[in-house]
Amino acid sequence: MSVKALHLVDNQVKVGRIVMGGGAPVVVQSMTNTDTADIEATVEQVAQLAQAGSELVRITVNNEAAAAAVPEITGRLLEMGIDVPIVGDFHYNGHKLLTRFPDCAKALSKYRINPGNVGRGKKKDEQFAAMIEVACKYDKPVRIGVNWGSLDQVLLASMLDENAKSTQPRPLDEIQRETLIASALQSAEMAENLGLAHNKIIISCKTSSVQELIKTYRELARRCDYPLHLGLTEAGMGSKGIVASTAALAVLLQEGIGDTIRISLTPEPGGDRSKEVIVAQEILQTMGLRSFTPMVIACPGCGRTTSTYFQKLAEDIQAYLRTQMPIWGKQYPGVEEMNVAVMGCVVNGPGESKHANIGISLPGTGERPVAPVFVDGERSITLKGDHIAEEFQAIIEAYVQKNYSVNSTTP
Ligand code: SF4
Repeated sequence: MSVKALHLVDNQVKVGRIVMGGGAPVVVQSMTNTDTADIEATVEQVAQLAQAGSELVRITVNNEAAAAAVPEITGRLLEMGIDVPIVGDFHYNGHKLLTRFPDCAKALSKYRINPGNVGRGKKKDEQFAAMIEVACKYDKPVRIGVNWGSLDQVLLASMLDENAKSTQPRPLDEIQRETLIASALQSAEMAENLGLAHNKIIISCKTSSVQELIKTYRELARRCDYPLHLGLTEAGMGSKGIVASTAALAVLLQEGIGDTIRISLTPEPGGDRSKEVIVAQEILQTMGLRSFTPMVIACPGCGRTTSTYFQKLAEDIQAYLRTQMPIWGKQYPGVEEMNVAVMGCVVNGPGESKHANIGISLPGTGERPVAPVFVDGERSITLKGDHIAEEFQAIIEAYVQKNYSVNSTTP
């Protein structure tokens, strides 16, 4: 066990068994889209997200039925051997739900509170205080999660008024950004004044604009030492959501900003929710910040490879590696750092394959129908015939057993 796990650094926050901030590895999290009151569906989706590698899973707690379901959900997950910390997302009625459903409050590992959706007027502070009191009572961390789409309008109006009176008024976008940050930091300060420890607070200020998110988090990181939860809110669907999230998060992560991330992808109808976990892992892994699963290096293909065989092989091998990880991750420490190259022809195939732990260079159009395999940079065997995919998979399996078993010397 690392020293960090034994002694928390001052600003590190512990959420269940997960440590965030203060130099701890960036944590991947996700959120369900099931009705939380539907216990079966929610347990199933949390299990899928955890299986995909989500280290925290957030569920909405939006009404009494959802709050009543929470202890049953966490209990069933534990029975299944899944101890992923569950975060409750509260808006509008969080103060009532957390106080009226103490088993829910106890079962959750963290509460997410959105200062823009806590209440209006005098009630806002009272209702915020009620939630913080529950967090203090059960020793739970809180994420103060401000969102561009639900920004505190009273605070915004007062900052706009102040700006209007200034002799040198600032542009509107600056005031809006300042309001986001002020909403988070003022709420954090209020929570500390109510007795919540400094190391029980995580901050997020999400926007849907890449450039705004970068500016906002740079300023946040400059002004506080709370762990920061990063995410581009409402990132969107498909490649747009992935690209926009990556563009924003990569800049910040490269600057050392961000302790936990979530990719807010809109799934296709009936689509796999785990995609957001895979994208988050791939951002961290391709940036060299963490490793989760062996990566496939594949060429894009071109006119030299006119069949789809090689694309199919690359896809199948990546899926196979991912499917193996729940078992390999336990049996073969370090296997997540392995690279496998699947290349379309002899132009770059052998060279790229030599740089990977294992690589295969498939025959391009008109080339001899043979596929040389390279292991640790050396040409080892040449595959041919109808079972290249199965034979290559068997070579990978043997390589993993030989090189990553506990008693082997990891390459
Ligand atoms: S390795 Fe061959 S098939 Fe792949 S992109 Fe390069 S030239 Fe084309």
